[in-house]
Amino acid sequence: MSQLLLRYSPTPVEAACSLCGQQATLPAGTQLVLAEAGQPVCSTCGQHHAPSLAALLQLAEEAERVGRIGRHTVFPPYTALLDLARAADLYAGSCPQGHGGA
Ligand SMILES: [Zn+2]
Repeated sequence: MSQLLLRYSPTPVEAACSLCGQQATLPAGTQLVLAEAGQPVCSTCGQHHAPSLAALLQLAEEAERVGRIGRHTVFPPYTALLDLARAADLYAGSCPQGHGGA
Protein backbone atom coordinates (compact mmCIF):
# COMPACT_ATOMS: atom_id res chain seq x y z
CA MET A 1 0.00 0.00 0.00
CA SER A 2 1.29 3.44 -0.92
CA GLN A 3 2.41 5.66 1.91
CA LEU A 4 0.99 9.16 1.84
CA LEU A 5 2.03 12.23 3.72
CA LEU A 6 0.93 15.81 4.22
CA ARG A 7 3.29 18.57 3.19
CA TYR A 8 3.16 22.32 3.10
CA SER A 9 3.60 23.99 -0.27
CA PRO A 10 3.52 27.78 -0.74
CA THR A 11 2.38 27.30 -4.34
CA PRO A 12 -0.52 25.35 -5.89
CA VAL A 13 0.33 22.11 -7.68
CA GLU A 14 -1.42 20.94 -10.83
CA ALA A 15 -0.56 17.44 -11.97
CA ALA A 16 -1.99 13.99 -12.56
CA CYS A 17 -2.82 12.12 -9.36
CA SER A 18 -0.03 9.59 -8.81
CA LEU A 19 -2.52 6.87 -7.81
CA CYS A 20 -5.43 7.15 -10.27
CA GLY A 21 -3.95 9.36 -13.00
CA GLN A 22 -6.77 11.90 -12.93
CA GLN A 23 -5.88 15.56 -13.18
CA ALA A 24 -5.62 16.99 -9.68
CA THR A 25 -5.23 20.58 -8.57
CA LEU A 26 -3.88 20.99 -5.07
CA PRO A 27 -4.25 24.51 -3.70
CA ALA A 28 -1.30 26.17 -1.98
CA GLY A 29 -0.97 25.17 1.66
CA THR A 30 -1.32 21.69 3.08
CA GLN A 31 -1.20 19.03 0.36
CA LEU A 32 -1.53 15.26 0.30
CA VAL A 33 1.34 13.61 -1.61
CA LEU A 34 2.94 10.21 -2.17
CA ALA A 35 5.66 9.72 0.46
CA GLU A 36 8.40 8.30 -1.82
CA ALA A 37 8.00 10.55 -4.85
CA GLY A 38 6.30 13.63 -3.45
CA GLN A 39 3.76 13.38 -6.28
CA PRO A 40 0.28 14.82 -5.68
CA VAL A 41 -2.65 12.62 -4.69
CA CYS A 42 -6.26 13.65 -5.40
CA SER A 43 -8.77 13.93 -2.58
CA THR A 44 -10.71 10.85 -3.71
CA CYS A 45 -7.58 8.64 -3.55
CA GLY A 46 -6.59 10.32 -0.29
CA GLN A 47 -9.89 9.36 1.30
CA HIS A 48 -9.49 5.82 0.02
CA HIS A 49 -5.82 5.20 0.90
CA ALA A 50 -5.34 7.40 3.96
CA PRO A 51 -8.72 8.42 5.39
CA SER A 52 -7.28 9.94 8.56
CA LEU A 53 -4.80 12.11 6.61
CA ALA A 54 -7.54 13.17 4.18
CA ALA A 55 -9.74 14.09 7.14
CA LEU A 56 -6.86 16.00 8.76
CA LEU A 57 -6.30 17.87 5.49
CA GLN A 58 -9.98 18.78 5.37
CA LEU A 59 -9.81 19.95 8.98
CA ALA A 60 -6.77 22.12 8.18
CA GLU A 61 -8.56 23.65 5.18
CA GLU A 62 -11.66 24.44 7.24
CA ALA A 63 -9.53 25.89 10.03
CA GLU A 64 -7.69 28.13 7.54
CA ARG A 65 -10.98 29.24 6.02
CA VAL A 66 -12.59 30.07 9.37
CA GLY A 67 -9.34 31.76 10.45
CA ARG A 68 -9.43 33.99 7.37
CA ILE A 69 -13.07 34.92 8.02
CA GLY A 70 -12.27 35.59 11.67
CA ARG A 71 -9.67 38.14 10.68
CA HIS A 72 -12.31 40.30 9.00
CA THR A 73 -15.24 39.89 11.37
CA VAL A 74 -15.50 39.51 15.12
CA PHE A 75 -17.83 36.51 14.85
CA PRO A 76 -17.36 34.03 11.98
CA PRO A 77 -20.69 32.88 10.51
CA TYR A 78 -22.35 30.05 12.36
CA THR A 79 -22.27 27.86 9.24
CA ALA A 80 -18.48 28.23 8.99
CA LEU A 81 -18.11 27.13 12.60
CA LEU A 82 -20.42 24.19 11.90
CA ASP A 83 -18.25 23.19 8.91
CA LEU A 84 -15.17 23.34 11.12
CA ALA A 85 -16.87 21.28 13.81
CA ARG A 86 -17.97 18.72 11.21
CA ALA A 87 -14.41 18.45 9.82
CA ALA A 88 -13.07 17.99 13.35
CA ASP A 89 -15.65 15.29 14.02
CA LEU A 90 -14.76 13.53 10.76
CA TYR A 91 -11.07 13.60 11.66
CA ALA A 92 -11.67 12.28 15.17
CA GLY A 93 -13.74 9.44 13.75
CA SER A 94 -11.16 8.55 11.08
CA CYS A 95 -8.22 8.05 13.45
CA PRO A 96 -7.27 4.37 13.80
CA GLN A 97 -7.27 4.60 17.58
CA GLY A 98 -9.81 7.40 17.63
CA HIS A 99 -12.38 6.95 20.32
CA GLY A 100 -13.55 10.50 19.98
CA GLY A 101 -12.02 11.62 23.26
CA ALA A 102 -8.60 12.29 24.76
ZN1 LIG B 1 -6.42 9.95 -7.46
